Amino acid sequence: MCGIVGYIGKKQAAPIILDGLAKLEYRGYDSAGMAIFDGESIKMMKSAGRLQALVDLSHGGDLLPGTAGIGHTRWATHGKPSDLNAHPHFNTRGTISIVHNGIIENYQALKLMLEAKGYVFQSETDTEVVAQLLDFYYRGNPMEAVTKVMHRVEGSYALGIMFSDHPDEIYAVRKSSPLIVGQSEEGCFIASDVPAILKYTRTVFYTDDQEIVKLTADGIEFFTVDEEKIEKEAVTIEWDANAAEKGGYEHFLLKEIYEQPETVDKTLSPRLKDGRIVIEELGLTDEEIKALRKIYIVACGSAYHVGITSKYIIEEMARIPVEVDVASEFRYRNPILMEGDLVIVISQSGETADTLEGLRISKRLGCKVLGIVNVVGSSIAREADNVMYTWAGPEISVATTKAYSAQLINMYLLAIKLATVRGAISDAKAAAFIKELNKLPEQIELLMGCKERMQKFANRYVGAQDIYFIGRGIDYAISLEGSLKLKELSYVHSEAYPAGELKHGPISLIDKGTLVVAVLTQEELYQKTISNIVEVKSRGAFVMAVTTVGNEEIEKVADYVVYIPQTDKFFTDSLAIVPLQFFSYYVAVGKGCDVDKPRNLAKSVTVE
Ligand code: GLU
Repeated sequence: MCGIVGYIGKKQAAPIILDGLAKLEYRGYDSAGMAIFDGESIKMMKSAGRLQALVDLSHGGDLLPGTAGIGHTRWATHGKPSDLNAHPHFNTRGTISIVHNGIIENYQALKLMLEAKGYVFQSETDTEVVAQLLDFYYRGNPMEAVTKVMHRVEGSYALGIMFSDHPDEIYAVRKSSPLIVGQSEEGCFIASDVPAILKYTRTVFYTDDQEIVKLTADGIEFFTVDEEKIEKEAVTIEWDANAAEKGGYEHFLLKEIYEQPETVDKTLSPRLKDGRIVIEELGLTDEEIKALRKIYIVACGSAYHVGITSKYIIEEMARIPVEVDVASEFRYRNPILMEGDLVIVISQSGETADTLEGLRISKRLGCKVLGIVNVVGSSIAREADNVMYTWAGPEISVATTKAYSAQLINMYLLAIKLATVRGAISDAKAAAFIKELNKLPEQIELLMGCKERMQKFANRYVGAQDIYFIGRGIDYAISLEGSLKLKELSYVHSEAYPAGELKHGPISLIDKGTLVVAVLTQEELYQKTISNIVEVKSRGAFVMAVTTVGNEEIEKVADYVVYIPQTDKFFTDSLAIVPLQFFSYYVAVGKGCDVDKPRNLAKSVTVE
């Protein structure tokens, strides 16, 4: 998520930091700030909104003179986007300044501990806990305080740290959040990504998790968490600056497809504690869960497809009736909601106008609303009774990939939680589900290997007029999302149908060579969908099947097969969608479409 830039050297730090932060804008952010040591103390400026606000506030950096500093663009996770919550954060005495990317998972416990010792907090962030904890451990030796803090904090972090009584040093550490270090004749740098410093140096060091970096104007030293020195080799960056802005990927969409294993892991792991699902933010007591009569899921676009997958899962696993509505329909259909029904609204941006209205209607009718949202502090996040965030980080490409994957994870967790509390599944069954969920990040990673095959296959369909997707049950929901991705990215006309519905009309559209993508991940429905494949094949269709490893006999009927790893039948959407994302992406690339900004579409649909 978002960006860190730090500099210590011969030049003025603030302009370098502002310039570097601008290069990281692509990562998405909601506020920006920097702290500079001016020879006496550390001075700070920060502001919610665009980076330009910080540029204006600091007169392009002129109002913050000094040759050592740290800067940040924040993408809020804990606490709304605001001036106060923007980074840098300080200890109360203003002598330790930090910038942070990531999430401190145990910040609440640490905050309580520090408050009991008299520490007073200014912001709502998890980050401020780190500044105060550094203060708590600081006895004049920065390295000692940093290592102690690393032993106490859980979660993910990239940190840039300055101590006002060690003005010639900057410290940096990371765990599961990116951070690179650079060196030039003019000084040393830290940054979340190479493009931030590419203008100044091509000599870069990649830091590993739990390493500590000490930067001075003349050099960089690396240490283990046990304060032992490490030797590191510099890498020379060969990329051109433009390619680097997307981390070397041709499009943000491709980058975001590749980020899915990490996204899934980040959304999943904070909610798994000691082998159990803990959703602190759910806001429902066990009694309320047991009393649930009905669940309504209200969403648009891909989030609506997550809703359809969830309906299949929640109804079968937890035996609670679920209705899924497109938000623009829900809001005008006078839905029969009863007090005690749960309404779940799903939106990446948290600003989707129709979904927001669905939320408001539901609240007026006395229902509790749970938001599944990616953007902290967004309207839906603020207005929902409870929010279960997806930790996908900023999604830049208009068509969603990683946020969709993260939404699925939240719905799986919710389904298992509801099913367990209502006694619909045993603890052993829940544990078996959790085991399967834990495998997903690695399995999605494995699927990145199908990219080349999907590219070759997609190249054949660059000129396609119509493509059909079919599946039953969850496979139908996957088909809907696969078809939408294709439409959005490549402008190829495409429809998704429940496989059994085809012969009630649309099969008349199947002609010689028409591509039909069949999804078959549901064991009980497998033979049924095979019959539907045979039906379209006998009308001349060319069939690509997406199925699970072990179903090799499908090669007798389908023309082209893509296999996904084995998982529980409830979780196959997370895997089967990946080859379909690659397929849509490469049809779009082959046609020369504007992949990251498809025509007529907006990332956040704030109008009806
Ligand atoms: N969790 C921190 C916050 O909400 C850092 C977010 C970020 O990575 O920008 O302030």
